[in-house]
Amino acid sequence: MTSYYQSTRQLTPPIDAKQAVLKGISDDGGLFVWPELGEKPLDLKTVCQLDYQGIAQLVFEKLMSGYTKEELSECIKNAYANSFEGQDITPLKPVGEVSVLELFRGPTSAFKDVALTILPWFLSKALAGTNQKALILTATSGDTGKAAMSGFQDVDQTGICVFYPDGKVSSVQYKQMASQEGQNVRVFGVQGNFDDAQSMVKKLFLDEDLKAKLAKDQVVLSSANSINIGRLIPQIVYYFDAYRQLINQGTIQVGDPVSFSVPTGNFGDVLAGYYASLLGLPVKTFYVASNANNVLTDFLETGIYDRRRPFIQTISPSMDILISSNLERLLYYASNKDQAKVAQWMEDLATKGYYELDEETKKAIQSQFKGGYYDDAALKETIAKTYQDTGYVLDPHTAAAYALAKDALASGEQGPIIALSTASPYKFTQDVLDALGLQEDDPWQAMQKLSKIDADPIPAPLAKLPEAPILHTAVIAPSEMKDNVAKAAQEIFA
Ligand SMILES: *Cc1c(COP(=O)(O)O)cnc(C)c1O
Repeated sequence: MTSYYQSTRQLTPPIDAKQAVLKGISDDGGLFVWPELGEKPLDLKTVCQLDYQGIAQLVFEKLMSGYTKEELSECIKNAYANSFEGQDITPLKPVGEVSVLELFRGPTSAFKDVALTILPWFLSKALAGTNQKALILTATSGDTGKAAMSGFQDVDQTGICVFYPDGKVSSVQYKQMASQEGQNVRVFGVQGNFDDAQSMVKKLFLDEDLKAKLAKDQVVLSSANSINIGRLIPQIVYYFDAYRQLINQGTIQVGDPVSFSVPTGNFGDVLAGYYASLLGLPVKTFYVASNANNVLTDFLETGIYDRRRPFIQTISPSMDILISSNLERLLYYASNKDQAKVAQWMEDLATKGYYELDEETKKAIQSQFKGGYYDDAALKETIAKTYQDTGYVLDPHTAAAYALAKDALASGEQGPIIALSTASPYKFTQDVLDALGLQEDDPWQAMQKLSKIDADPIPAPLAKLPEAPILHTAVIAPSEMKDNVAKAAQEIFA
C-alpha cells in the first residue's frame, strides 16, 4: 500500500511523499495527508526490537512514498549518525513518577533538531536528478532559524536565508545564528519585529518578479515550516522509541497502553504522536500542555476554537501561538476525513476568527485528547518543585508538560505517562535560574551557574558559543529583503 498524499480540504490529485516534501502545502491552502493512515498498522513487537534508526526506517518506508529504501537509509544516517549527543537520539529518563523523553540532545539543544536534521536530506533526495535547487526562506523569532540552518548547512542543491528581528532575540540566540557556518547559509537581522520579517517572507513567496528571476537559475523558493510532512513524519519515530525504552526499563510489556504529555504550540509534535497511534502504538491519552495562551485547552474542553483573544508573551515562547496549524490534520482524521467540514472550519477561522466542531468530531477528539495550561508563575513553581524533589532541571516548555502529567496522575490517571521535553534548560537559562531563585543577568555566567547545580553539563555547542566567531553581521530593512534573497541565490548556487 503506497502512501499517496492529498489535501485536507478537498479531493486533489494524489501525489507521493517526495512531491509533498517539495510542495510543502497544497495549492488550496490545505495540508497534505495520507487518507489510509491507520488502516495498516506496524507490528508493535517488531518495532520494539529495533533501535531508533531501525524504527525510523520502518516508519519512513511506510509513509515516504517515492523514496527508495536506500535513499531513506542514507537520509537517516546523514541526520542521526553524528549530530546527536549519544547513541540514544531521544533518551527516556524517569523523573519522579513521570518519564521524561529528552528530545533536545541535537545540535541546537531544541526538539526541532529531530526533524530539521533530516528534512534537508529528504528535500535534497527529492531534488536529486533534477537541475532544480531549493532556497529556503525562514523568518524566526529565535529558535527555528538556528535549527533550520544547522540542518541545511552544506546540503546539496539547497540554500537557506534566515531573517530574525534585530535586537529582539536573546543574546544566546543571536550568537547561535550569527556564528552559523556553511557556504549555503545567510543570516539577516531585520529592522522591526518578528511580524515585519514574517510578513515580508510571506510576500516574497508570492512575488512573481522574484520567482521569475530565480527560475532563470532553476532556483525555487521553499520553506522549512512545521506543516511540511518532511518535518512531521520524523517526529513519529520517537513516540515508538519511547515505548520501546519503557519496555526495556521493565515498566510495561508489549501491548500495554501509555499516555503522553506534550508541550504544544503549532500542534506538530502531539500530532506526530497521534499518527503513531494510528500506526498501532497503544496510546490511552494525549495530554496537550499549553502556557497562558490557552486556546487549545479551551478548544479541547468546548469544541470551539476561538483565536479572538490577546497574545501573551511568556517564558515558554515556542508555545506562544494562537493558531495551531497542524490541528487541521487531526480535524481531518477525527471527522472521518470529511474534507468539506474541514474546509468550512478553516474558512470560519480565517473570516470569523473561530469555528465550532460538530458533536461527533468533538467526542472523537475528546476521547483521546485532554488539555491543560500553566501561566508563568505556575511554570516557575513546577521548575522549582521538580528540582527540589528530584534534582532534575526542566526548561519552561517541558515544565508545562510535566505539570500536566503530574496533575493527571493526581486526579486518577493510571499511567505510565511520558512527558516530552522539548528544550534543554540551558537554552532558557535565565528564566530557569529565576525560577530556582538564582538570578543572573549575564547569559554566559548564567549557564555556568546552572551547570553547578544541574547534573547535566552545558551542551557542547552552547558551551563553545562565547568564543565562536561572528560570521554574519548584515542588518537590513524589510524592503531590502527581496534584493538580498536574489543576491544570496546567485552567490550560493553560482
Ligand atoms: C516548537 C516548540 C514547541 C511546540 O511544538 P509544536 O510542534 O509547534 O506543537 C514546544 N517547545 C519547544 C521548545 C519548541 O521549540
